[in-house]
Amino acid sequence: MDCVFCKIISGEIKSSIVYRDEDVVAFKDLNPQAPTHILIVPVKHIDSLSNCLKEDEGVLGKIQLVASKIANDLCISDAFRLVTNNGTKAGQTVKHLHYHLLAGRRFKWPPG
Ligand code: 5GP
Ligand code: ZN
Repeated sequence: MDCVFCKIISGEIKSSIVYRDEDVVAFKDLNPQAPTHILIVPVKHIDSLSNCLKEDEGVLGKIQLVASKIANDLCISDAFRLVTNNGTKAGQTVKHLHYHLLAGRRFKWPPG
């Protein structure tokens, strides 16, 4: 499978990894949209949130707890945004489920 995030998880493509366990990996975004921009992904290749199964419930919950832990470690727990783009029309360019953890600037609402 030609998936850039699977290659980052396996180490085939280099990235700045900030967290790893058996289920979840987090690394810095190559093209950051905020002073802190980290991608949090399941180790298992899942195309998108819409393609998650009941069996993925645990990893989906874990991703949110990992986001909270990273935010705490980086002292940004008072102001961060966690977002997933689901589908091409919503801005998803990499078809491996990922959550953007963004912080360090003001965010607009509604998002663009
Ligand atoms: P999406 O647009 O799918 O929601 O987000 C994909 C994100 O992956 C983008 O923010 C993009 O900058 C990031 N990205 C794409 N290729 C790479 C890569 O090879 N390494 C890293 N660290 N980030 C990547
Ligand atoms: Zn993948």
